[in-house]
Amino acid sequence: MGRFDKYNIDLKGLKAEPLNLEFILDDAFFGDIEGEEFRRGKVKAVVTAKKNRDVFDIAFSLSGIVIVPCNRCLDDLELEIETTNSLRVRLGDDFADDGDIVVVPEHDGDINIAWYLYEFIALAMPMRRVHAPGKCNKAMTGKLRKHLLGEYDDEQPEMDPRWEVLKNIQIEEDN
Ligand SMILES: [Zn+2]
Repeated sequence: MGRFDKYNIDLKGLKAEPLNLEFILDDAFFGDIEGEEFRRGKVKAVVTAKKNRDVFDIAFSLSGIVIVPCNRCLDDLELEIETTNSLRVRLGDDFADDGDIVVVPEHDGDINIAWYLYEFIALAMPMRRVHAPGKCNKAMTGKLRKHLLGEYDDEQPEMDPRWEVLKNIQIEEDN
């Protein structure tokens, strides 16, 4: 049995009754699928496949979290995922996916939804991938700024000794 076999939907075998499936997608799944956007997380997927004449409608409901590196401090950041998607599929000669409808070869008669599950989650990820204010790993942020961006820490730079002298003069004049 292949790693993604359980994500196979036998379209030809679909009866009048909708097919309901439920998966928990975890680190092992996301690791195996080797996507670019993220490799870890825990997402519950509820999938319903229905046959409407010659077209199969597959509905996806996905909720959970994925873990990505924070863009600011590189520590783990949990992103909440909550999304619904659908896929229209029909049987045909050769595999095709033009965005509106997926064609799967008639002689196979099934579709593997593993990659779609990953892709729908990736599409639902928020663009902003940083910790809430003050929640970043401070040690890491400081180091990254210095080494990668050449910026200084948040602390005030020490006063230039020449200005220190001027300040004293000012005080003396006031007296
Ligand atoms: Zn952070």
